[in-house]
Amino acid sequence: MSAKKPLNLVNKSLSDIPPTFYDKIGDNLTMDLTKLTSLVIERYKLLKKIESTPEDEIKDSIKKKPIISIPSDLFWDNQENINNDIASHFLLAVIMCKTEQEIRWFIRQESSLYKSRLESKYNKYDMYKILLELGMNLTLFEKNKNQDVDINKIRFNKKDKNSNEKIYFCRFEDAINLIAKKEYYLYKGNVYILEEDLPKLFKVVFEQKQEKVMAKIRANSENIKRDRRIKEIILSFEREKELLNNLEAAKLAKEVPNDEKLRTLLDVDIFAERCFPLCMNLIQRHINKYSHLMHFGRLQYTLFLKGAGLPVDEALKFFQKKYEKKTPLDKFEKEYAYNIRHSYGLEGKRMNYNPFNCEKILNMNSPMGQECHGCPFKTYSAENLRKILETCNLNPVIIEEIMNKKKTNEFQLACVKYFEGKFPRVLGQGAGIHPNKYFTTAMRSIKGFNKANKNNDNADKTDEIINDIINDKMDIEDN
Ligand code: SF4
Repeated sequence: MSAKKPLNLVNKSLSDIPPTFYDKIGDNLTMDLTKLTSLVIERYKLLKKIESTPEDEIKDSIKKKPIISIPSDLFWDNQENINNDIASHFLLAVIMCKTEQEIRWFIRQESSLYKSRLESKYNKYDMYKILLELGMNLTLFEKNKNQDVDINKIRFNKKDKNSNEKIYFCRFEDAINLIAKKEYYLYKGNVYILEEDLPKLFKVVFEQKQEKVMAKIRANSENIKRDRRIKEIILSFEREKELLNNLEAAKLAKEVPNDEKLRTLLDVDIFAERCFPLCMNLIQRHINKYSHLMHFGRLQYTLFLKGAGLPVDEALKFFQKKYEKKTPLDKFEKEYAYNIRHSYGLEGKRMNYNPFNCEKILNMNSPMGQECHGCPFKTYSAENLRKILETCNLNPVIIEEIMNKKKTNEFQLACVKYFEGKFPRVLGQGAGIHPNKYFTTAMRSIKGFNKANKNNDNADKTDEIINDIINDKMDIEDN
């Protein structure tokens, strides 16, 4: 990756800015169909990798570690590769514009990729200038000219306060998504943004632009897809995608140990997305993002991991690793290690605490602020639940079914539907009753057990599952 060089962007047109917003492509561009197909497939694989990588790790890995490696044909280092980047982005957008869910998935991954690429290549001041070029009305905040603005409030959510850091402001209409996160200071119709947060602003601008582009593509997609060459690319892509999914499933199946238990901290990351019920998957995402969990979330999750077989040493390593960005080892040992050992029955009264079942989780107090615990089918608003479900690789029909269950407050049945969405040919025995039963059934399913004969007895089995939920028959064994 080339060293950061300040850009001289003033007086240059948008097309001169290397990181395009995918809205310009060289005139008379010709590209080989086979190459274009492989670029589209490479791009899709890249976005899938980004989907499963915590955001702040993406930038680092683009720079240093090869977790996310940008295919060399898509580097922003010469016009040909920039054209490759734009063409593959556009064609994948055409392929992904079938449903709202796919569109949102595509925009989300592309904006993460874009933000991380910018961060790895440009310094913050360059970003400010690029934002100006993109038409953003961003002004440098000058303390002596804006004396009524309270600087401490601008920095209110930052632990490491850097008083020399530059601050910018813009009209709140331009940064409405930042306001929604309640992380930014709004004063007299302006949003105040620390220089370190400019990449987030980029993401917002990118997403807004991309939504408009996708709406246009969708409106014209039937016409575009009639083109014989595009049809060929889509066919090859779909074949490759299926192959990729099968390979992923086979790879994951190999990872499942014979006793379907978690053995090491690495297993938690491997199986969380695919095999944890939504409540636990969201806790895992939360800890990945914030490197912290409040008390009830930690308790709910530790007991779940314990019930899933994770040995106490591995649980301690797991939490310490996840916390390390914000919590030094000695603080972790003093403040958190005891609680984790306590949950495993190794401290205090040395009780053998059982993992929480769904009924208990459903009756927990709703999470506040930075808390993350409870059952999301109950605690999330319908709007937020839908947004989350759209990140879970579920069929849109299943999402609607889950939302219907949410509407009628049948949260445990929503969980059964969620399981069915994740494992379409499998009965969700234990889903909606106990998170650990959900987990075991999911692990077994990946290995190919628990297949239901849809034509014969599925209806009877589904009735059985509903009865189990009503009677709450299943309980997790003591550990
Ligand atoms: Fe978790 Fe149970 Fe809610 Fe499913 S129903 S998300 S397993 S608490």
